[in-house]
Amino acid sequence: MCIFCKIVNNEIPSNKLLENDDFIAFHDLHPKAPIHVLVVPKNHVDCFQDVSAEMMAKMTLFVQEVTRLTGIDKTGYRLITNNGDDGGQEVHHLHFHVMGGAKLPFGHLSDEPHKNM
Ligand code: 5GP
Ligand code: ZN
Repeated sequence: MCIFCKIVNNEIPSNKLLENDDFIAFHDLHPKAPIHVLVVPKNHVDCFQDVSAEMMAKMTLFVQEVTRLTGIDKTGYRLITNNGDDGGQEVHHLHFHVMGGAKLPFGHLSDEPHKNM
């Protein structure tokens, strides 16, 4: 069973923020922003490439609720999902990073455009 399935099943602890029948939201163990919450479907899906449109529609509403709860709905936030090896996905259970609470740097994405790496 993957690490996020264990969190869903309360087999390992997490700092939970919100939960419904389909999703949970909990604070990232190693936050990279003042607010850094992970939104995870309770049913295991490997990555964004495999998710259904139906699940994404529900997840959209859930993410919006997370931003209201954390107070970043008005100030702004970044929503990221890393997909697969080149995307840098480390946990292979679909999750969205909801990050905000400060003006976020754009990191390597603000560097010079890549020239056919
Ligand atoms: P990825 O690189 O797969 O998009 O992101 C995985 C994220 O999960 C990382 O930001 C990492 O800090 C977080 N993470 C990994 N293991 C745990 C855990 O056991 N608990 C919590 N709360 N976050 C975790
Ligand atoms: Zn899983």
